[in-house]
Amino acid sequence: MVYFILFMTGASFGSFLLCFAERYSLGESILIGRSHCPSCGHVLGISDLIPVFSYIMHKGRCRYCHRKIDIRYLLSEVLGGCLFLAVFYHHKVHNMDCFYAMAVGCILMGLSMTDLLTYEIPDRFHVMLITLWLIKHTILQEEILFLPFLLGKALSGLILSFYLFFLTFVLSKIRHAEMMGGGDIKLFFSVGLYLGFYRGMSCLFLSCVFGLFAMLVTKRKNIPFGPCISLSFLLLLLAKC
Ligand SMILES: [Zn+2]
Repeated sequence: MVYFILFMTGASFGSFLLCFAERYSLGESILIGRSHCPSCGHVLGISDLIPVFSYIMHKGRCRYCHRKIDIRYLLSEVLGGCLFLAVFYHHKVHNMDCFYAMAVGCILMGLSMTDLLTYEIPDRFHVMLITLWLIKHTILQEEILFLPFLLGKALSGLILSFYLFFLTFVLSKIRHAEMMGGGDIKLFFSVGLYLGFYRGMSCLFLSCVFGLFAMLVTKRKNIPFGPCISLSFLLLLLAKC
């Protein structure tokens, strides 16, 4: 039962994050307006908002206009549910690390969805990641000698960001095309903060592997790199715990 509740909670978060990404891409506010069908605009009832089940029950179609609902709505819910289950399974017990990893996972998921839709990572995601890290290492877990610890991690993040900036700059001169956006470079500051320098370098390597794989599968030269970084980031973060 606890797995079911966790899955449904994660699925709800997945649905909310996709809604945020879509509204952000359209320049709409997440706080104003109720959930509605993207085709006919009909406001959705409670029974339409049950994650995963609503999609299956209505065979992937809108209950009002019967038009097909994009598979990404189902995927975001399944992904959110699986994220919560994976984090819970990894931590086994109820502890703060579990909630912390779930929160980081949600931020990375929201960031990835927004990047997929807009090729942009809004600054608010970077702010959230940094704030969460600070909360964890100040309020929740008192580090001995916090300032040297903070400076060490911040330096790791800065070196990684500068390294990526330099790499992007050189590659853009050779290939005459932008390889990575400013959002990806900023995201590596958080990667350094959470994972440190060496694990951050592993994250960069793994992100490139995922990126190349995605380019091969989609047969596209320009892919949003945020989801690749997020996936590597999350895998390494869970491997660390
Ligand atoms: Zn509809």
